[in-house]
Formats: sequence, C-alpha cells, structure tokens
Amino acid sequence: MIYLDNAATTAVDDTVIKEMLPYFTMEYANPSEIYSYATGARKGMNSARKYIADLIKADMTEIYFTSGGTESDNWAVKGAAYTLNGKGKHIITSAIEHHAVINSCKELEKSGFDVTYIPVGRDGIVEPESVRKAMRSDTILVSIMLANNEIGTIQPVSEIARMARERGIWVHTDAVQAFGNIDIDVNKLNVDMLSASAHKCHGPKGMGMLYIRNGVKLLPVMSGGKQERAMRAGTENIPGIVGFGKAAQLCREKDNYNSEYITKLRNHFIKRVTDEIEHVMVNGSIDKRLPGNVSFSFACLDGETIQIQLDMKGICCSTGSACNAGVSGMSHVIAALNIPEEYSFGTLRFTISDINTRKEIDYTVEALKEVVKKLRSMSAKYKIYKNACTKNKTIY
Ligand code: PLP
Repeated sequence: MIYLDNAATTAVDDTVIKEMLPYFTMEYANPSEIYSYATGARKGMNSARKYIADLIKADMTEIYFTSGGTESDNWAVKGAAYTLNGKGKHIITSAIEHHAVINSCKELEKSGFDVTYIPVGRDGIVEPESVRKAMRSDTILVSIMLANNEIGTIQPVSEIARMARERGIWVHTDAVQAFGNIDIDVNKLNVDMLSASAHKCHGPKGMGMLYIRNGVKLLPVMSGGKQERAMRAGTENIPGIVGFGKAAQLCREKDNYNSEYITKLRNHFIKRVTDEIEHVMVNGSIDKRLPGNVSFSFACLDGETIQIQLDMKGICCSTGSACNAGVSGMSHVIAALNIPEEYSFGTLRFTISDINTRKEIDYTVEALKEVVKKLRSMSAKYKIYKNACTKNKTIY
C-alpha cells in the first residue's frame, strides 16, 4: 500500500503511541481531582501544552485543548460571533475554507450575521487587498486559513491580520494543515486565534487545540465543567493530549519539518506527471504551497474514477477533502479556482509525508500514466477535446 493522503490523516508515530500508552493504564486519573494520584495526568497535560505552545511560539497559557480542528474552528468562529455580537455582525472569510469554517459561517448567517466570502484567483491565494476592501465598521472577525487542505496553498495571513487588527477586528486562522508541516510563529502571523489538529502531524485523531492570544476575551461555546480554565468544558482526553504534545515535540526536532526532502519528492512527482501525461494541470500556486501537497486536474476525466483505479493498484490518494469523500461533483475549492471546465471534475490530491519514498512516487507515476491512458482511450469527450486543442499539452 502506498499512502499518499497525508492531508486526510497521518500515521501515528510509534514514539507518540509509546508516550500515550501509560496514560490509559497507569496515569488514568481525572486531572481535575485534587488527590496526588491525579498529578501524573496533570503533568502530562502541562508538558504537552508546553510542547505545542513552543512549536508556534505561543505561551502555554494560550493553548486550549479541543476534540479536533473542527471543534476549534467552530469555537473560534461561533465564539467570536457570540462574544462580539453587540459590536457588529459582519464576518470575512474566504471561499476556499474548510467546511468547519464555512458551515460555521452559514449557521451564523441563519441568525442574522452577514458573511463575505472572499474569492481567490487561479493561484488559490486570497488577495489581502480584497480582504481590506471587504472590511466594514461592523466587521468583527476575519477568518482566513493558513494552508488549504485541498490545494495546499499558503495564504498571506500575517498581511491580512495586520490590516484587520489595526482596525480592531479579531483574526482567526485555521492552521490544521500547516501545523507541524511549516514554521508557525503566532506573533509574526499576528493572529488572535489559531486552530490545529493532532492527526495531521502524526498524532492521534480526535485531538486538537485552539490558540487564543492572551487578552482576547473569547467566550466558551461548550457548557459544562470548568476544565481548561473554564474555557472548554469536558473531561480532558489525557492520552490524546499527551500524544499531541509528543507529535509537536517530534515535529520541532525535525530539520525544518523535513520539508526539503518532501519538497524534492513533490517536485519530482509534478515534473514527471506534467512531462509524461498530456492535458494535466497543477492546481494552485507552485511556490506558495505546503511542501507535501500536489493537486492535479486531468482533462476530460472523473477524479473519483481515477482514484478507484489507483486504489486497485494499492495507492491511496483523494479527490479533495476527506470530509467530502463520497459527495459527487466538484469541490467548492476547485470551483473557486475557475479552472477550465474540462479539467474541473478530474481532480486528484496527493499529499506526501516524510515517510514516503521516491520509489513510491515513481510507482504512482507509472500507475497514473496507465490509468489515465486507459480511461481516456474510452472517452469520446477526450477525443473531441484533444482534437480541438491547438497545443498538445496544457500545463498551468
Ligand atoms: N481544517 C482543515 C483545513 C482541515 O484540513 C481539517 C481536516 O481535514 C479540519 C479543519 C478538521 O480537523 P479535524 O479532522 O481534526 O476535525
């Protein structure tokens, strides 16, 4: 099996599992208890908080554990709306956000909030100037993701945040795909809130965090006990927290997240596919993207059909976001790019991690060549398209 779907989730690192295990069987006390046996659980949780804070240059008091990226995004967006309701009802986000942000905004629209969805160009990048122009006197929140989950493009968050915060507008960034894969400094980014998830960086699933800058008075959205300094109710998932902390520590120990190695593999993959397969395009900016992300669109083909054929050859890749798997049609991210109609349904996302090898990439290229050739030989639409093309290759 060749796993090239690391944006959907990653393998939990063996060291992370080893670190978590004692917290199921030995240090299983509820950290809220005052007896001494609960000290171990509390210590594990606090070390994890420190490792995570250190990775993004935050203070450990600014890290709040959640059940994952989805909860963190919901809390940031709905929590900001809930907190700042009296100040204004306008929110700015982008057309290519994850559904955890987009659908939180849609919910808020039902209760009277006004949301501006900033479009992107063909490069999949949000223009800071478009965000600035959308800002109003009643804007309370700007939520722009740091890196896109489908096309991997890295957004100019610090520039956007500077303009928003100058106007007293809160800034949230969904850094679920970026955390543990690229350098993040919350002070340079200049954000008030940042979401991350453990399972995208070799940590456990169902574990996330929301960074809330000290001084930002975000209200909790979960009612219940006083865990996480009365900000996020619910008994803490101590093994998950410890695993998340270990994963963050391991990311920090890597040489620049092993991004040089991953980028080399990705560029080799892009070069071979675009050199050896006709009528394929790479979605989104090549330079401003996560090291491991490649999103291809193949003219006149259906992404899911290619995905199934590759699966039969032992290769795992995705047509877009894992949260959208099984939903037919074009994703909202690909739709936002406005790519030529012939390409828009033939999208496949490959996401590489540092445990992938060049041999795996070469095997995948060969498999892709075979599958694309076979499917196109049966496609009348492709024959018409190919004949109509003046150039025999289209690369963006
Ligand atoms: N935001 C982005 C950009 C993501 O890619 C994902 C997951 O794919 C999420 C949020 C949701 O995170 P989780 O799976 O931890 O709920």
